[in-house]
Amino acid sequence: MDFMLSNEQRMLQKLAAQFAENELEPMAAELDETHCFPVENFQKMARLGFTGIGVPREYGGVGGGAVEEVLVVTEFAKKCMSSAATLSIHLIVPHLLTQFGTEEQKRTYLPRITAGGEVAAFALTEPNAGSDAGSAKTTAIFDSETNEYVLNGTKCFITGGSRASVLVIFALTQPAKGLKGMSAILVERGTPGFSVGKVENKMGLRGSETAELIFEDCRVPACNLVGKEGQGFKIAMQALDGARIGTGAQAVGIAEGAIDLSVKYMHERVQFGKPIAALQGLQWYIADMATKTEAAKWLVYRAACLHDAGAPFTKEAAMCKLNASENARFVTNLALQIHGGYGYMKDYPLERMYRDAKLTEIYEGTSEIHKVVISRAVLGK
Ligand SMILES: Cc1cc2nc3c(=O)[nH]c(=O)nc-3n(C[C@H](O)[C@H](O)[C@H](O)COP(=O)(O)OP(=O)(O)OC[C@H]3O[C@@H](n4cnc5c(N)ncnc54)[C@H](O)[C@@H]3O)c2cc1C
Repeated sequence: MDFMLSNEQRMLQKLAAQFAENELEPMAAELDETHCFPVENFQKMARLGFTGIGVPREYGGVGGGAVEEVLVVTEFAKKCMSSAATLSIHLIVPHLLTQFGTEEQKRTYLPRITAGGEVAAFALTEPNAGSDAGSAKTTAIFDSETNEYVLNGTKCFITGGSRASVLVIFALTQPAKGLKGMSAILVERGTPGFSVGKVENKMGLRGSETAELIFEDCRVPACNLVGKEGQGFKIAMQALDGARIGTGAQAVGIAEGAIDLSVKYMHERVQFGKPIAALQGLQWYIADMATKTEAAKWLVYRAACLHDAGAPFTKEAAMCKLNASENARFVTNLALQIHGGYGYMKDYPLERMYRDAKLTEIYEGTSEIHKVVISRAVLGK
């Protein structure tokens, strides 16, 4: 058992930390305030190869795997959770295409959404199908005369959906079969019949756009099918297993960022004639925050290592996401408390981090759904 990062991994972690400090942190408060998606940040990420992590070099990627993604996303989330989430959720699509795409799809789309800096989106959720994604109603009916799929329906809460140039949509190619009739279909921005609806006004993650996508007789060529017809639900679930490790990394990063800020503040802030770092009540907060975050980090690393080794990791991904997200809420809450009234003010990043952390308990599957996944695995059901 090796708990050490390789030299290459440490260098990548350092590069990500520098990028987060120099490029992401200075804009984080403004993005939150203006609810603006930082296109230029995304393109800078692409220039440094971050958008190609986990994708083979021959398709525009930079190689590496889940561990490398975890290292980068964690560093980003320490400084700007929206940017970390933007990258992490974007990466679902290149990873999914690397695994399930045809050679033509890989050659056409991967260079664009890795080195090319174009945003990709993963669209599963619908207004009446969230946790119960298998009850999605969007259809993609094959038209044999034109050799096209015709999409109709609405997706909601899609991260980057309003900015993406390449989207993977999960739709029923055989509605009568329910989730066994679901398929993954590539749709490009600008395809007639595809439009972006409401862009949500959110509590947190405000530097990431979350959008409704509308399909009205939207026609895409048959070659846009990813995998086989009827494989869509399986592809979505496998993609989400990987994405949950990314969400775990976001949650660990935001917790580590909140601890760093708390430590600094406790040394600076003086009450009763001494720095508040001398108060045992707060010292114990820090001890709990650091210990739980270290444990959360290693569950995330463990799931990522299993993923990279090609071993089963569904249960571990669910555990790491459940634990890290609950910890992120716990830690950001105490960090805000340590900052007292200042923590509640927008002059400090704590209130933003507290709002951002909450989301990790909801997206990529809620905590309750993860408990369903974990308990099934543990009980052997
Ligand atoms: C900011 C944001 C970004 C998102 N980005 C994307 C994206 O890029 N792509 C995408 O496809 N989706 C995305 N989503 C959707 C997200 O994955 C769903 O919101 C999430 O899966 C929960 O679905 P729901 O909101 O419909 O809640 P519901 O499924 O309606 O859940 C309501 C409550 O019931 C509980 N519940 C439901 N079923 C069970 C059960 N079996 N046992 C116990 N409790 C249960 C839930 O845990 C929750 O507490 C995003 C959501 C948000 C908020």
